[in-house]
Amino acid sequence: MRRLARKEDDCRRMGEVAALIMAAGRGVRAGGGVPKQYRPLAGMPMIRHSVLRYLSHPAIGRVRLVIQPDHRDHYQTALGDLGLETPVAGGDERQESVRMGLEALREAAPASVLVHDAARPNVDPETIQRVVTALANHPGAIAAVPATDTLKRSDAAGRIGETVDRSGIWRAQTPQGFQFGPLLEAHRRHAERRFTDDAAVAEAAGLAVALVAGSEDNLKVTTEDDFARAARLLMASNQIRIGSGFDVHRFTAGDAVTLCGVTIPHDRGLAGHSDADVGLHALTDALLGAIGEADIGAHFPPSDPQWAGAPSAVFLRHARSLIAARGGAIVNVDVTLICERPAIAPHRAAMRAAIAALLEVDVDRVGVKATTTERLGFTGRGEGIAAQAVASVTI
Ligand code: MG
Repeated sequence: MRRLARKEDDCRRMGEVAALIMAAGRGVRAGGGVPKQYRPLAGMPMIRHSVLRYLSHPAIGRVRLVIQPDHRDHYQTALGDLGLETPVAGGDERQESVRMGLEALREAAPASVLVHDAARPNVDPETIQRVVTALANHPGAIAAVPATDTLKRSDAAGRIGETVDRSGIWRAQTPQGFQFGPLLEAHRRHAERRFTDDAAVAEAAGLAVALVAGSEDNLKVTTEDDFARAARLLMASNQIRIGSGFDVHRFTAGDAVTLCGVTIPHDRGLAGHSDADVGLHALTDALLGAIGEADIGAHFPPSDPQWAGAPSAVFLRHARSLIAARGGAIVNVDVTLICERPAIAPHRAAMRAAIAALLEVDVDRVGVKATTTERLGFTGRGEGIAAQAVASVTI
């Protein structure tokens, strides 16, 4: 994700800017089993994209979420590792939820607040900055795009009743930014009326609200088509990174080997400090490499007794969590096991399934292959097993 140069002077002059991310909708309209804001989108839950855009923005000092109280488990799974302040329990309607979020921010007393819908996961840093910058001169400012299509009003029979003059017509998006105190006051004063966005609440309270350029790509995800378009946009704006890994373990006495998370009966075992899963070790190093991290030994030193006999799934999960913490997503992984025996083919499907489950990716993003070295070298002589892996990650 691109980072903006911090405008230190602006930030000091304007005081803290908080982001209030609205995720309190029931979100059942789009289907898919989980509430829409928690559905996977380009490698992570949609809400996580939205939150990371604000967490990584240099002008935003504080991020607070408003969620449905019933969604706490979804919240924990999607965002629990980010160390955010406890989310605010929202109400039945968006306007009420925003007011509850603002009340929760009162103690922190930010100078201004940007209200953003979690269902706009592709908000860009420049749009956020334009809203923040406009707040230096206006009590409110919202991202919006001018209407470019010709607008028609239909009559009762579904025919064109009239053509609407589109000049001066804008489509409102989020973020919508406001000086904090006046917005809270406006919400309190108009709690009994119903408005469709925060700008309307502010307008009702007589606050001047500026329009700043949003982006057509800052779409609100509602339909299945929106999900597909947002996924394309999110993948396109990210960088692809590649990592590689290699590992070897020697055979020792034993009756089974663990390869890519699957235990296979064998007339030898593999020597190693952990469970000696050479496939998962190579794959862990590939994932770490993709994000510029050190190798598995640096993260889990063999000298540390707590990793003795450890299931290598722990290492792989750790690499995955480091990627997720940076806002990254695993695109695909590919492991090659190099040995004469045991035969890998009968276990390939189970290995792919095990890795897919550990990495929380679809199984078609996991390759597991095997080869021999034509009886040459240490693998050919049956002295051990080697593995190599590559992984691609989008960040
Ligand atoms: Mg190893």
